[in-house]
Amino acid sequence: MAKPTADQSVPVDLNVPENYVLHTLTNTKPLPPIKLSNLHNELQWLSVIILTTIPTLAIVGVYHTTLKWQTFVWAFAFYFFSGLGITAGYHRLWAHRSYNASKFLEYVLVIAGASAVQGSVHWWSRGHRAHHRYTDTDLDPYNAHRGFWYSHIGWMLLKPRRKPGVADVSDLKKNKVIMWQHRWYLPLIITTTFVLPTAVAHYGWNDAWGGLVYAGLVRLTFVHHSTFCVNSLAHWIGESPFDDKHTPKNHMLTAFVTVGEGYHNFHHQFPMDYRNAIRWYQYDPTKWFIWTMSKLGLAWQLKTFPENEIQKGVLTMHMKKLRDMQEKLTWPESTAHLPVVTYESWQEQSAKRPLVLISGFIHDLSGFLEEHPGGAHLVKRFIGKDATTAFFGGVYDHSNAAHNLLAMKRVGVLSGGHPHILDIARTVPPSQRLKVARYEELKRDVDYGSTTAVEDEDDSEDLVVTRKLKLRY
Ligand SMILES: [Zn+2]
Ligand SMILES: [Zn+2]
Repeated sequence: MAKPTADQSVPVDLNVPENYVLHTLTNTKPLPPIKLSNLHNELQWLSVIILTTIPTLAIVGVYHTTLKWQTFVWAFAFYFFSGLGITAGYHRLWAHRSYNASKFLEYVLVIAGASAVQGSVHWWSRGHRAHHRYTDTDLDPYNAHRGFWYSHIGWMLLKPRRKPGVADVSDLKKNKVIMWQHRWYLPLIITTTFVLPTAVAHYGWNDAWGGLVYAGLVRLTFVHHSTFCVNSLAHWIGESPFDDKHTPKNHMLTAFVTVGEGYHNFHHQFPMDYRNAIRWYQYDPTKWFIWTMSKLGLAWQLKTFPENEIQKGVLTMHMKKLRDMQEKLTWPESTAHLPVVTYESWQEQSAKRPLVLISGFIHDLSGFLEEHPGGAHLVKRFIGKDATTAFFGGVYDHSNAAHNLLAMKRVGVLSGGHPHILDIARTVPPSQRLKVARYEELKRDVDYGSTTAVEDEDDSEDLVVTRKLKLRY
């Protein structure tokens, strides 16, 4: 970790160019790719040793050590202690400033965080702030687009090809507790990772060896991969209920293995919110811990994003799904593309096929007569006639489904039938009265006026076409 600079009041990202990612990627060169031949020079040996030795010793230890139930409870509790040091401390308190903590709680959290052996608060938060700021780009230290294993562990084992994008951590350099942890980091990790778990088990129930193996080594391995899952699993499996621009996802399974950091889609959208899970039934013990601390007077100013803004994200994602569904369906021919037909032409054509007029539209009911639930005879008597009144309640007040199906059978607009066409309640099928439209589409309709009929010449249709009518609702 770098020593605090002389001038801590100037944020390092004060003079960053407008499109920093593009600017940096085009103006800096990445280190050459890692191959088998240069691998030994490109490994981060300290990380490699820690992340291979600890699990190996844990496996060997488990093989040779009987697990006492007291040690199991202790290891399990200590796992949560370390985990909360990272989730409630490193992550939500320091990387995101999502609440304020008393000095006492800060000391507890830096000690707990040290027992997770994941580097100092400063180093961890600097990388994490870059991860949020440049998510899924090459300036994101654990860019999920580089694959599951890279974002899980590879980014720590290999020297990065680029420096992480700039992120200001001057606030952390001013924090005395963080600087205290930085100063005493090595003694702290040795004490919390090995001495404390061993001593508790030894003096508590005479199981020093079990304490070291289960509450020390096994617990640390679990804590490591629990946190790593936030960068890998949380960007891999699950849903995107708030935004799908980037890879972060929400999934209960990820929440279970990460002490509640699994609602990562929410978290990337609202990173300063002290919660990851916003529903009471979702698993987020870190949120419950912070909330409890606030009730005990040890934490305050718990930040939450306005529910109204959260719901906008939810609505947008719902609308995207609806839009996809809408685009997969077949819709009636638009009024702009239907030929305008003279009365004479309609009458003449009606002798050859069942053309029925309803609300100014001519419908071709070929193949439908026998399908008509009320019987073919009711339709047949309107061939070449206006069935508007009968359709809208004169004979039977048709269902929305019938209205929708009828619109699919439109083949033309009767010349002079404009007043009917402008009767939106009767001409727009129920299925089209609510639509998911993109902003550009709405804007286009506003620009051109909403109910203006524009005519132009066209005589290429099967029916005798006199004019084409472009009509917008
Ligand atoms: Zn993330
Ligand atoms: Zn975060």
